[in-house]
Amino acid sequence: MKHRWLDILGGIAFTVVVGLSLPAVHAQENDGTVGVILEIPDGAKAGPGFDVEKATDAYINLLSEEDRARSDAYMEGGYWLQLWGFLYGLGVVWLMLGTRLSAKMRDFSERFGRWQWLHRFVYGLQYVVIVTVLSFPLTVYQGFFREHSYNLATQTFGSWMGDQLTGLVVGALLGAVAITLIYGVIRKAIDTWWIWGAGLAVVFLMFVNFIAPVYIAPLFNDYKTLDEGPLRDSIMSMARANGIPGEDVYWFDASRQTTRISANVSGAFGTTRISLNDNLLNHTSTEEIEAVMAHEMGHYVLHHGTKLTINFGLVFAFGFAFVAWGFKITLRRWGANWEVRNIDDTAGLPLFAALLSIFFFIATPITNGIVRVYEAEADNYGINVSRQPDGFARLAMRLSEYRKISPGPLERIIFYHHPSGRDRVYMSMLWKSEHHGSDSEYAEE
Ligand SMILES: [Zn+2]
Repeated sequence: MKHRWLDILGGIAFTVVVGLSLPAVHAQENDGTVGVILEIPDGAKAGPGFDVEKATDAYINLLSEEDRARSDAYMEGGYWLQLWGFLYGLGVVWLMLGTRLSAKMRDFSERFGRWQWLHRFVYGLQYVVIVTVLSFPLTVYQGFFREHSYNLATQTFGSWMGDQLTGLVVGALLGAVAITLIYGVIRKAIDTWWIWGAGLAVVFLMFVNFIAPVYIAPLFNDYKTLDEGPLRDSIMSMARANGIPGEDVYWFDASRQTTRISANVSGAFGTTRISLNDNLLNHTSTEEIEAVMAHEMGHYVLHHGTKLTINFGLVFAFGFAFVAWGFKITLRRWGANWEVRNIDDTAGLPLFAALLSIFFFIATPITNGIVRVYEAEADNYGINVSRQPDGFARLAMRLSEYRKISPGPLERIIFYHHPSGRDRVYMSMLWKSEHHGSDSEYAEE
């Protein structure tokens, strides 16, 4: 499982954010000016004879054969890892139930006072810690060794472990709260809990989204306000023009963990923040930064956080219904062996999590599809706001260092939660053709 549903909670809360990790190196100071110049490949320059297809190819050809093979391999290996992670998680569950470890954890939790909620909380803490420990071999391969082998990670093992421990503390607390609440709901409404549970998931997601930028993200990275300068001015100007609150733009030292670029507009009800990471700030051009910030603003203005949460609330309702159904059947057959009493017994949580992870594994194309629709919408919004088609195309090419640039149709439907690099470059060039059309059209006629 790697408590997949917690990953989903976290994933939504963090929007596009950090890869949960942290560091050692001293943060680079930044004066808010940008030194990288945007280079437009020859075939994509505006002018007579501008051709969307040719311009798209000109960008795609920036990726060398070697780099392309590498990013394809990274992505395809990632598909397999999803399967191995799923199966590994089922193995962990089988171990916890089969050895009656889960039942022992429940018995242990019942020694803590008289309150039921405290028993659930104590069980929840144990559960997150034990699942994290049992999943560690896969986590360390996926999160540390594999990332280093693709030159995406910048951390030493010690500082990476430091981040893992911080993540474990946060995950254990949030996870235990979520577990306490969901079992509270199950106890109160043993037959209809799956409906109320979905509502609870929505409220919980919103809460995590609210606290994440202020209380969670700073545990992993240093956040600083971007200094006065042309870049800050242009980001603030886009923000004001699009009704985004806030006095400041934040940047954070993601280079402590990764070479990836990222940005986000996160938070809600007064915790809203516009942030970008230092890889984006220091290694890309102003045009690219404007393009990505406008995309992130699109998520905010179009209320994607709220819409995604509600969409996922519905997905959770189906998921919980599947759990309720599957739990009864499984319990009848193996409940006694595992010493799990009923669905309201926390000792059954591994089974609960296994069923939910089976549901989410099968629903992968649906959940990715939901996110992809919003991402495409933010792409369109962003390019209209930034008016930087070349910045956005160049950025899509940079992301192709670790995302397969041209997936097949089936691959795209199943695995992609963003439009592919090629689709993004094509969209940018189409936009460019329609907007700078006058340059070329008049010349041609
Ligand atoms: Zn996005």
